[in-house]
Amino acid sequence: MSTTNSDGRFAPSPTGPLHLGNLRTALLAWLFARSAGARFLIRVENLDRARVRPGLEEAQLSDLMALGLDWDGPTSRQSESMEPYEKAIARLDAEGLLYPCYCTRAEIRASASAPHGISTADRYPGTCRELTAWQRAEREASGRPPALRVRSKDARVAFEDRLLGRLEEVVDDFVVRRNDGTPAYQLAVVVDDAAQGIGEVVRGADLADSTPRQLLLARLLGLPEPRYVHVPLVLGPDGRRLAKRHGAVTLSDREEGPDEVRAWMARSLGLAEAGEAPSLDDLIARFDPDKLPREPSVWSPETAV
Ligand SMILES: [Zn+2]
Repeated sequence: MSTTNSDGRFAPSPTGPLHLGNLRTALLAWLFARSAGARFLIRVENLDRARVRPGLEEAQLSDLMALGLDWDGPTSRQSESMEPYEKAIARLDAEGLLYPCYCTRAEIRASASAPHGISTADRYPGTCRELTAWQRAEREASGRPPALRVRSKDARVAFEDRLLGRLEEVVDDFVVRRNDGTPAYQLAVVVDDAAQGIGEVVRGADLADSTPRQLLLARLLGLPEPRYVHVPLVLGPDGRRLAKRHGAVTLSDREEGPDEVRAWMARSLGLAEAGEAPSLDDLIARFDPDKLPREPSVWSPETAV
């Protein structure tokens, strides 16, 4: 069952500062929702306790506000209630769709074959899918707690991305609960998007690989399936995803103010001419998803801002 509304969200993880690429994705997510007259929500994805850094959530939200983005209702945080995730896991488990996996990341990497789509290192080869009770007991005795994986049964999942067109993938048995007990990213996103009534997920193209897994989970859980828009990334001069090593790539690192940074974003998306500083209202008026670039933008210290 596909959603029909255009309510959107931006879901940052407070594990590092938002760089210009993240902020451009946030602007796009905002533009998709607001140009459709829909709700726009902010959800802080902070389940990965080991990687969350204090103060970063505040800095991220303040960057979004500096760009002029607004959102509906209070900011939500995944850590505020674990119950919906636990319920979803329990439901999958009750249907016999989960099994414990004792593999380490290194073991999975060592045995992975070369597929398309999901990167080789991430794809699970099914090692623990059919363990006997004895094999399971033996692994339990080693003391390493298991993760929980979903039986995907090699489901082939296709979806129509608004920018990238039709994408399709055979889904592997991916993790829904990590071996430290934390609900996995894939599961939390699906549960949250459904609970928050998100109709259209707008996010970076690097997450397109995750979408078949998330759609499969939505189907297994009987949840509505949002529509997806994977927007082009911003790359550094070396052609790799923008990151700290590329220099002054965050709003607070830049000498220019937020209006100038927003003007650069607009130019890089074909929404403004050089020397122009369009307001957010201007951008909404000009916004046409069909005219957005499909290719990544390359940022360099000389051309930017
Ligand atoms: Zn395993």
